[in-house]
Amino acid sequence: MTARILDGTKLAAEIRAEVSAEARAMASSAIRPGLAVVLVGHNPASEAYVRGKVKSSQEVGLYSETHTPAETETTEELLALIADLNRRDEIDGILVQLPLPAHVDAKKILLAVDPAKDVDGFHPMNVGYLSTQRPGLVPCTPAGVMEILNRSAIPVAGQEAVVIGRSDIVGKPVAMLLLNQNATVTVCHSKTRDLPEVCRRADILVAAIGRAGMVTRDYVKPGATVIDVGINKITDRKEFDRFFSGNKKREETFAKNGSTLVGDVHPEVAEVAGAITPVPGGVGPLTIAMLMANTVKAAKMRRGQRVPELARK
Ligand code: NAD
Repeated sequence: MTARILDGTKLAAEIRAEVSAEARAMASSAIRPGLAVVLVGHNPASEAYVRGKVKSSQEVGLYSETHTPAETETTEELLALIADLNRRDEIDGILVQLPLPAHVDAKKILLAVDPAKDVDGFHPMNVGYLSTQRPGLVPCTPAGVMEILNRSAIPVAGQEAVVIGRSDIVGKPVAMLLLNQNATVTVCHSKTRDLPEVCRRADILVAAIGRAGMVTRDYVKPGATVIDVGINKITDRKEFDRFFSGNKKREETFAKNGSTLVGDVHPEVAEVAGAITPVPGGVGPLTIAMLMANTVKAAKMRRGQRVPELARK
């Protein structure tokens, strides 16, 4: 059996089209949702992510602006920038690209973002809204995981869900979202005993660990849905062979770039799972699409408009 591939690129395009239609509808009331991205210093990975976010904003018809304070900027100077963005009415979403330089108090910065504009959903107020099932802004990657499940008609209510990873950015919010949709949720982490055995209970297994191909076939119940959040760059030939030996397309990418991406789930899992997200092209594309959706949601909520849930197909 080979698993059904859950195509994140296609689902993300579907969501972007919906967001774009909403943005057009808002334009008739002279509202243009606006996103401000703050990128401190020159981290190449962060710069690439921010470029992707700005490009996507333009494509769906949102206003966007990027602020690029120097690496040396102090916590106080950044707080002043956030305060200014909080004050400006045409800015609906504020995204502070992480990681921030070590000398900056990242927690203080994230706490300063107006919760109504917190499109990353990291503010404790939004974390609280999520855990008490109140309307708020939900972190983008976890929200994307739920869109994949819901739009692929994978049942969640009553299912056994196991999440590997308990980060504030992915693991915990994914667990909360699954719980809010009535799954029976187990959260695993680096201290979990008998991890493969616990994972084999899962009808839905979400891997958010940050370890290349750690989830092998012995972690997976035959037929389970596996959502691979991990993004790991591999450059070592031996490691490449461990995952992609005989895979022509991957060989080409590896020869061309000297690297390729692998998730936290070993590709062999596709032989036992019922459905699986690929890496790349699975959860990744949903993250930016959900940022777009959150910016429109913030624009509506700030104006007291009703916010329908994204389509559940
Ligand atoms: P993190 O390092 O903050 O958290 C990792 C979690 O995995 C921790 O809770 C830890 O307890 C757990 N863990 C580590 N080793 C383990 C082990 N051996 N057994 C069981 N659990 C273990 O990472 P994160 O920010 O949650 O990100 C996780 C992965 O998801 C990374 O690969 C990251 O690149 C990726 N990610 C992808 C997207 C996306 O858009 N697709 C977004 C965010 C993160």
